Amino acid sequence: MAVRQAVFLVGGKGTRLGKLTATTPKPLLAIAPDILLLDLLIEEAARHGFTDIVLLAGHLGDSVERLYHGRQIRGATIRVIREPEPAGTGGALRHAAGMLDPWFLLANGDSWFDINLRALAVAPPRDRLARMALRSMEDTGRYGSVELHGRRITAFTEKKAATGPGLINGGLYLLNRAVLDHIAGPCSIEQDVFPELVRQGAVDGRVFDGYFLDIGLPETLAQARRDLPFRLARPAAFLDRDGVLNTDRGYTHRPEQLQWIEGAREAVLALNEAGYLVFVVTNQAGVAHGFYHEADVHAFHARMQTELADIGAHIDAFYHCPFHPDATIRRYRHPSHPDRKPNPGMLLKARREWRIRDRGSFLTGDRDSDIEAANRAGMPGMLFDGGNLLATVRQALAAVRPVAGPLPKPIFTETPAMQAG
Ligand SMILES: [Mg+2]
Repeated sequence: MAVRQAVFLVGGKGTRLGKLTATTPKPLLAIAPDILLLDLLIEEAARHGFTDIVLLAGHLGDSVERLYHGRQIRGATIRVIREPEPAGTGGALRHAAGMLDPWFLLANGDSWFDINLRALAVAPPRDRLARMALRSMEDTGRYGSVELHGRRITAFTEKKAATGPGLINGGLYLLNRAVLDHIAGPCSIEQDVFPELVRQGAVDGRVFDGYFLDIGLPETLAQARRDLPFRLARPAAFLDRDGVLNTDRGYTHRPEQLQWIEGAREAVLALNEAGYLVFVVTNQAGVAHGFYHEADVHAFHARMQTELADIGAHIDAFYHCPFHPDATIRRYRHPSHPDRKPNPGMLLKARREWRIRDRGSFLTGDRDSDIEAANRAGMPGMLFDGGNLLATVRQALAAVRPVAGPLPKPIFTETPAMQAG
């Protein structure tokens, strides 16, 4: 079973930020207009398919609870757990013991490491209790350093004890619930629990090279607000489904009919790793003709997600059009529904619902109607005429990937009120 739970530590005091965090918990600081850091972190987990999100709140936890408890964000459900009294990150985790899955993602709520979260959660190690996302840094001093031999972490030094280039703890972990056996009372996961687990050889490390940011200092918060306008919008790959991702058997809809096109899952993974949003856009006239229901479409897509998760890949969202001009089911009859390709409605809807960067975005489909939909949405369409989808997607990436040049315009302009005090 794919890991579906993501737990965020949002109880930190943020003392180094002074008055900024006197009344606002660090994860609730705005990193762009109308975007709190925690919004971004939750959205990232949700789009990677983590549907059960738990926020461990402490300091100023009432505001976290008020803003997030019970909300649904991109299909994920959010629960806020407030510790009765400060007991460190370890104590906060222990307090949530009753609701933890056997394996779950744990993340710091005051940093963002832009990686493929599915790759961190893929195939949990049978003989370890934790897997840590690592990043190489020019100077590890501020963060503390980690030594990796093969896949195993052999040394873990807390911040400021070491300097110079090396690997740092990226603040993102895949944890087995059994780590709770190593937490007796109030303690820090980073300072107490991990060093002990590392001594026992129980922690795997995996190196990622994504953008890393923590907002623990006024200057890093200011940096975040400068960088993020360029990072929040991603290029998107729109993939037709039948005949592109899976073999088209004619009105394919039963999960057991799912047969991946050669290189299809690997193509999705390559797009995930390249920082793309990946959307499926599929006409499903079989619904209009009464051959199957929309619930069957969703079930088929759920099977796709599960099999993608097995290799560390995911689809960010599925868009399907159940309408057809000759529908036998009246409510699905429409002479030219805006969502039905070659109309571009599904692509335009994705553009409204996600922060998509036009530059670098493209569609791959196996019919002229796919390509026409792309062109009508103002983006390139690449025809897939069989063979290996990974090869086609690699060609598409090479063709559309922006060459070195000026960064796109920021999506907002920094205002003085947003600068770190
Ligand atoms: Mg097709």
